[in-house]
This record gives sequence, C-alpha cells and structure tokens, in this order.
Amino acid sequence: MSTPLLEVRNLSKTFKAFRAVDGMELSVEAGTIHSVIGPNGAGKSTLFKLITGVHVPTSGEILLGGQAIGGEHPHQIARKGLVQVFQLTSIFTRLSVFDSVMVAAMATRRRSLDLSGRFRKALAGEVELLLEDVGISHLAKRISGELSHGDQRALELAMALATKPRVLLLDEPTAGMSPAETSTIAALIVSSVRSRDITVVLSEHDMDVIFEISDRVTVMHQGRVIAEGTPQEVRTIPEVMAVYLGDQVSGVVSVGYGPLPRRRESGPRTPLPDSSKHREKGQS
Ligand code: ADP
Ligand code: MG
Repeated sequence: MSTPLLEVRNLSKTFKAFRAVDGMELSVEAGTIHSVIGPNGAGKSTLFKLITGVHVPTSGEILLGGQAIGGEHPHQIARKGLVQVFQLTSIFTRLSVFDSVMVAAMATRRRSLDLSGRFRKALAGEVELLLEDVGISHLAKRISGELSHGDQRALELAMALATKPRVLLLDEPTAGMSPAETSTIAALIVSSVRSRDITVVLSEHDMDVIFEISDRVTVMHQGRVIAEGTPQEVRTIPEVMAVYLGDQVSGVVSVGYGPLPRRRESGPRTPLPDSSKHREKGQS
C-alpha cells in the first residue's frame, strides 16, 4: 500500500477540560476528494485547524507525505503545500478580483508584491486561466468586496489554487449559499482540483454535495471517527444518517448510540458527476 498523502494518527485537542478532538484518525490518499462530515460541534473545524497549524495538537501525529507536521507554524505548513481556502480578508476585498489572485500567486513564489512589474506580466496568463476555471473571468476588474457571496467563494478558491497546493482544505465552502450557488461551487471544486491533481479534504454540511463529489467520507462525532467508507457505504449506515440528519433538522443531536464499526476496506471509486450540468451560473 502506498503512503497516504495526509495522515492523522490518534490526534487530540483539549480546550481546558474539553476534548474537541479525541483520538482522531484520518488517512487521505493522494488525488482524492476526502470529506469529513458530522454534526455541529463534532470537531471538524478544530481538526482542520490542527492540520493547518492554527491549533497545536495536545497529542497525536499529523503526517504530510510521511513527514510529521503537527505543531508547525501555519506558514511552514502552507509552504509544504497544505493550504486551507481562506475567507477574503479586508485587504483583499479592496483589491480587484484579478489582483487578489495575483497577490496569492506571487505570495507563494516568495517574490515582492510588485503589482506592476515584469513578474506580474509573467503570472498574468496563469491568473486569467484560474479566473476562467472558477467561472469569474468576466469579473476580473471588479472590486473583490463587491462580488456576490457565491462569486466571492469562487474567488477564494482561485486564490487558494494560485498557491499551487498539494492538499487543499475546505471547511464548509458552501455555508450561507443558495442551492444554485452550492451546486456551482461543488462543480468548481471537482473540476478545478481534478485538472490540477490536487488532493482535497472537505468539510461540508450539504449531504448532496458530499455524496456527489467525495471519493471517501469520514464521519466524525464527539471528536472521533464513527464510520468511514465510500459515499455509498456511509450513506447506508442508518446510525450515521440518524445522527447527521437529526442535527440538520433540529440543531441538536438527540440520538444515542455506541461506536459504529469502522469501515476501512476500500470500496469501488465513486463515479464522478458530470460537472457540466452544474454550470448554470448566470441563468437564475
Ligand atoms: P464542528 O466544526 O464540527 O462544528 P468545532 O471543531 O468547531 O466543531 O467544535 C468542536 C467543539 O470544540 C465544540 O464544542 C466547540 O465549542 C469546541 N471548541 C472549538 N474551538 C474552541 C476553542 N478555541 N476553545 C474552546 N472550545 C472550542
Ligand atoms: Mg465547523
């Protein structure tokens, strides 16, 4: 078996006396879209912050390409190619869409942020291609902060892709989006990462998106894994669906159950959706 590109072993994070992540295990194969799902408070965002170095683990290991990265600074981890799609900050909201992606592209190449020089010219084609890929090339000259919610998420994806990540983490990328925007961004994630051979770790509350785009799904509850498998495998575990849907419906997990058996056998790969059917931007 090949070494997983990203591996989390017996990882825990305690806040005061509370264990937000409690013996978490995750094994992400290169080139896959691997989703982490679970009810609110399951520990998904904390797991992502541990992986990206925002939080220091209380115990356990995080390995990128077999090398331990747990406890390193976020910028060191980002430089190794593990990048989280970030929210537009106030600096970027005042730049044009094109310049926002340009700054992201320049930043990882460790050059000065010279927005008018020769280096900019060399990168311009790359930036244009990224904007085309995420469907916002027509907005290149617009101020980032003035874009619609969905277009800003597409811009954030382009900015993250501009850094040429090996592993891209997305924590609830469709939060606050309309169903149409959700479909669009899901299709963009699939098409843009597949064409670049990027590995994705995704947390997402929209189950349709999860089951449509994931190769593997890890189900988290109370800081640990309760199930793992292909989307088809996971969706047939009634307890998983009860916990998750219970949360979606009421906001509270009220279903009691013991730990579920882990599913670690690798099932057949999920057929990829035809992402063209989601390219409906501008029709609504
Ligand atoms: P999820 O993303 O799955 O909804 P989180 O990782 O955000 O879950 O949170 C998991 C648990 O950890 C929650 O109970 C949350 O209140 C707690 N938590 C998260 N971050 C902190 C923090 N910085 N300090 C204290 N508790 C935290
Ligand atoms: Mg979260």
